Amino acid sequence: MKAPRGTRDILPGEVEKWQFLEGKIKRICRLFGYGEIRTPIFEHTELFLRGVGETTDIVSKEMYTFMDRGERSLTLRPECTASVCRAYMEHKMYGDLQPVKVYYVGPMFRYDRPQAGRYRQFHQFGVEVFGTEDPTVDAEVIALSLVFFRELGLSEFELHINSVGCPECRSSYRGKLQEVLKERVGELCHDCAGRYEKNPLRILDCKSESCRELTEGVPLMVDNLCRECGVHFEEVKKALDVLGEAYVVNPRLVRGLDYYTKTAFEIISPVLGAQSSIGGGGRYDNLMSEIGGPDTPGIGFAIGLERVLLAMEAAGAKLPVGNLVDVFVATAGVPGEIALKLVMELRAAGVAVEKDYMGRSLKAQFKFADKKGARFLVILGEEEIAAGQATVRYMARGEQENVELKNLVRYLSGLVEEA
Ligand code: AMP
Repeated sequence: MKAPRGTRDILPGEVEKWQFLEGKIKRICRLFGYGEIRTPIFEHTELFLRGVGETTDIVSKEMYTFMDRGERSLTLRPECTASVCRAYMEHKMYGDLQPVKVYYVGPMFRYDRPQAGRYRQFHQFGVEVFGTEDPTVDAEVIALSLVFFRELGLSEFELHINSVGCPECRSSYRGKLQEVLKERVGELCHDCAGRYEKNPLRILDCKSESCRELTEGVPLMVDNLCRECGVHFEEVKKALDVLGEAYVVNPRLVRGLDYYTKTAFEIISPVLGAQSSIGGGGRYDNLMSEIGGPDTPGIGFAIGLERVLLAMEAAGAKLPVGNLVDVFVATAGVPGEIALKLVMELRAAGVAVEKDYMGRSLKAQFKFADKKGARFLVILGEEEIAAGQATVRYMARGEQENVELKNLVRYLSGLVEEA
């Protein structure tokens, strides 16, 4: 049996890298004033139809949707923003102090074509801020993602920003774009031909070379923003300038989810190859009302953690190695329960410790301790026990000394703390 295509096990030894990321996320989110939210892995399908948008690739081709035994249509979450909005609404968080700032980390599911950096189960770290339209929040949310990347030792990335406007300015722009593209529909790729009616802005975002050429010189959303959206975009850029964050205005940036309004952004990592988008997000001032909640502005991002790890490896950034113990207790001719009692006492004193369970020879136990990365070795034999002593060896230096058994726990916990 194998894990389903596009999914992966995270084994001991690798899981430490994930815990490292999660630790950074927790720390940064606390500094920025975000509380953690955990929503269900599956939701009513309706939430994503209304929240993500029926014309998107996610909803039309990539969702894991199933009927449960009670004949309800459920979907494994392909992203988390719609779920967080649902929770905000359901728990009447609009009655709490505003803005509400939350973050999440967890698995998402999309029936994508698996390849490097693209999986069917993948993990996102995301944040959402509800209840404010302040453009400095847009800049702060973007800055949070950049702080996270830098904290991990990733400095080579590009920040792309755009404004996709609001329903008013977008609908008149849509008409203009369709007018210009009318004669070229037949030449667009299959996907874009479908987008022409439903979501023509997405055509600008198409990766196909011919669609790129066909849309060369067409009118752009950034040049057709209404006054309010235009001012908002200028304010976001001004705040990023003040923070000293470099960005590229990319007027073709539309992103794959229908709910964005005004600010849209994406962070590109040049070390990643084909799947170079490491994270992205934007403002979604109408999403809450579209899923039946009170009119509440929102903004957020999602970062793909598998891609973050790939980028870190490619950039040679430091990642922790796992499964290390501080101390290994090696025994010869000593009853198993005596060694067990000692390791339990050491653990209670905060020392990460391991012993032999395989009946290995003393020499084999030394080798094992070395492989496990133990910094100190305790050697316990019949003679030592009789003398009320144990030998403690410093692995790196090869030196050793005798320690009274009654002082051993205190002695070792002191050593480990120092090291
Ligand atoms: P999106 O929710 O599509 O805006 O994606 C946000 C981020 O999630 C992307 O920038 C990627 O880093 C990551 N991501 C999206 N889809 C996948 C996938 N199938 N496999 C791995 N990471 C993904």
